[in-house]
Parts: sequence; structure tokens; C-alpha cells
Amino acid sequence: MKHNHLIMSFLPKIKRCPSCDSFNIIRINGISYDNHFKSLTEWTLKKIFNCKKCKVELGLFLHNFYQKEKLIWVDLLKCEDQFHNTLVKLQAEKIKNKKLNKKYYKILNEIKDIQNEIRLNQTKLKIKCKIKNRGLLIRHVY
Ligand SMILES: [Zn+2]
Repeated sequence: MKHNHLIMSFLPKIKRCPSCDSFNIIRINGISYDNHFKSLTEWTLKKIFNCKKCKVELGLFLHNFYQKEKLIWVDLLKCEDQFHNTLVKLQAEKIKNKKLNKKYYKILNEIKDIQNEIRLNQTKLKIKCKIKNRGLLIRHVY
């Protein structure tokens, strides 16, 4: 059973790019990469590569316990990941201050501000990527 799983994991995988939705064929070779992402400490980084179509950097992560995989747009993750520890700390403080006092609202606002900044940065990134790819497409046509 375990042996079968090992063989399975060496077969090429077909994954959909989270940026442009096109399919990429990925081969993994048992090597793991350094995973510096604070929000994904329970995951192993199995592969880093660029989407064949839109060229964004993608990371294939495997969950350490559940053997679940996910393919992540690395730059999009970075927008969130840089705030991970701060958000975890704030959420813990929020729970401690649940009496709805002044501090509670201050923490709520801080969390909201960070979440807005993450969303804004991710939106900017998506737009930048779309414009870049449209440029590539136009160059391709002419
Ligand atoms: Zn893509």
C-alpha cells in the first residue's frame, strides 16, 4: 500500500494554474524545497515552477498529515504570508479582549486594516499579471 503510494506520487500530475486556469503537467521527484511560508508550516513544498502560459511562479504544497495537495500562486501567497504572525497575534488578543471594550475595537480595526491591505495588494498583483499577459498576447498576434 505504502509502496503504491510512492509510485503514484512520481507520476506526472496535471494541475490547474490558480492565476490563468490553464493546465500544467508537473513531475515531482521526491525532493522537497525550503518552505519559508509562515502560514503553511504544516505543508511541504514539493515543487516550484512557472506556469507555462502566464509565467507566474507556482508552488505545489503537500500537507504533512493528510497527503492533500494544493497549487499556490507564490506572489499572491506572499501578500498574505507577511502578515500571518501579526494576524495570529491580533486574533489571540481579540479573544482575550472580548468584552467589547475600546481595546477590542482597536484590535478589530487593526485586523481589518491588514486584511484590506492584503486584498488590495492581491488585486494589484492580479491586475498587473493580467496586463502583462494581455501584452504578451498582443505581441503574439502581430
Ligand atoms: Zn498560469
